[in-house]
Amino acid sequence: MEALTFGTGKILSHAYIVASQSEAARNQAVLEIAGAAVCSGAGALKPCGLCRDCRKVKAGVHPDIIQVRRETDDKGKQKREIRVDQIREMIGQAQIMPNEADGKAFIVQEAETMNPSAQNALLKLLEEPPGGVVLILSTAAPAMLLPTIRSRCIELNVNQDAPALSDEQRQEVVEYLKYVSTGRKSELLRWCNEKAAHTDTAGTIEFVKSVKTIVTDVLCGREPFCDLKREQLWLVLTLLERCEEALSVNTGIKHIFGLIAVKSIGDGAPEK
Ligand SMILES: [Zn+2]
Repeated sequence: MEALTFGTGKILSHAYIVASQSEAARNQAVLEIAGAAVCSGAGALKPCGLCRDCRKVKAGVHPDIIQVRRETDDKGKQKREIRVDQIREMIGQAQIMPNEADGKAFIVQEAETMNPSAQNALLKLLEEPPGGVVLILSTAAPAMLLPTIRSRCIELNVNQDAPALSDEQRQEVVEYLKYVSTGRKSELLRWCNEKAAHTDTAGTIEFVKSVKTIVTDVLCGREPFCDLKREQLWLVLTLLERCEEALSVNTGIKHIFGLIAVKSIGDGAPEK
């Protein structure tokens, strides 16, 4: 998946699905991603929460964060669908440079209410994303989105009722993330070699899923893991998406853990 680079090396993908039954959990994750897209803080941590852009995001008045939602009719009643015209207008806006920030974020609220032609129109934006644009689809029902849309987005499942990880799974993830946070590449490599030698495909899939669950929880503020910076979390998340993709076409587990060993620790030069 194409990754975009912002400001000081923040890595964002160009499209996310934020899925959750909880509106509050969805909104928190959505604002985190949108904030990272527009944050102008000098540090590596984005969103920094302190810069002019972040303050505007918090106040809900940032001009480069554009929300699309179901319209209301003359009687103030919410319409059933997000129409194709609304998506076309959004795509038009995506071609225009940001007003204030370096990037621009589009949030589609209740994305599952996009009718089929609206979803098809959106596909165009996902196929040829303009630079610096991040699209976030917020939904309680990701299954109602076209498979072609889902396959082009990083899907963050922020359900609070997701099955809990076992202690063993959690321990594995904590170990892995510790190597990432300390940046000790040779130790990570050793650990990955060890893992690859003692697990099978099912175990690898489970490991990738467990890491995604925990990293998503950290990003959404549900899990404290203060050793890792946000951009490290995003790097890991983007990498794991690649691993999942590779696993889905039967890539060997040695290759997967090789990828994890080599790509988990950024070296300041974020790669595409
Ligand atoms: Zn900021």
